Amino acid sequence: MMEKESQALHGEGRACGITRKACFSASHLYQLPELSIEENRALFGACSIPPGHGHNYELIVSMAGELNEYGMVLNLSDVKKAIKSEVTDQLDFRFLNDVWPEFNLSKENGCLATTEALVRIIWKRLSPHLPLIGLRLYEHPLLWADYQGNAMTAFLTIRTHFAAAHRLAREDLPQEENEKIFGKCARENGHGHNYLVDITVRGEIDSRTGMICDLSALQTLVNDLVVEAFDHTFLNKDIKHFSKCVPTAENIALYISDLLTAPIQSIGANLHKIRLQESPNNAAEVYAETPQLDVSEKEILHTTSIN
Ligand SMILES: [Zn+2]
Ligand SMILES: [Zn+2]
Repeated sequence: MMEKESQALHGEGRACGITRKACFSASHLYQLPELSIEENRALFGACSIPPGHGHNYELIVSMAGELNEYGMVLNLSDVKKAIKSEVTDQLDFRFLNDVWPEFNLSKENGCLATTEALVRIIWKRLSPHLPLIGLRLYEHPLLWADYQGNAMTAFLTIRTHFAAAHRLAREDLPQEENEKIFGKCARENGHGHNYLVDITVRGEIDSRTGMICDLSALQTLVNDLVVEAFDHTFLNKDIKHFSKCVPTAENIALYISDLLTAPIQSIGANLHKIRLQESPNNAAEVYAETPQLDVSEKEILHTTSIN
């Protein structure tokens, strides 16, 4: 009887996900010793300029488990202690190339401390101590990597933005009907948004370069095919696809996904997801690899816990 009452009170035995954020500042240098200065510069751009440069990293640790008799998955002070001793105390204000042997480039198996390589090694360090379900590491508010413990597979996301106008209406319907369906969005002269686009690619981390794919090639693709094409346009009139297709956030996300899938494959990665945020209040998400929206519970938990 006592046991039952305590379960009802404290949720003992029920599953829950929790997240914890931690920050550290560190520097790194992308310079492989087997390559010349020019070759390093050609491959890694400004990231290869000695003695290196730094970032303010933000780490989001997602964990899950059953609640204990005190209503907690884990005691938060144990979580903080593990993250501090295994990660932030070791990395904060350090030069990543020197701090962990995995990033020692003079060794054959050493790899560049890219965001995706770093998040994988952080997983390796934290997983013996915490029931991890996902890690997200922001190198910058516009660039982050996700890792879920699957060998060399990781996710890399870049965020960009464009401003565009649109009007939501179907040409085959009378204006009155369009206004009933789309409300103010059907007004005849259109309106605009500052769109945020998150492009997430999935791929295998290269054991030497630490990269899923060439980041600057990815940024160039997104810039050419999305930002340059869409920025400061009236979508319905300037983008042929939207002369027939209503440019809802959902349709714009789908179209961006269709535009980017093949080019991203050509640089060695897979487009995983497009998230298009139209306003602070609404966003659309398209999973390019699982178009039927076969989103696992784990992924929903991870996404909702970090946003
Ligand atoms: Zn960097
Ligand atoms: Zn709108």
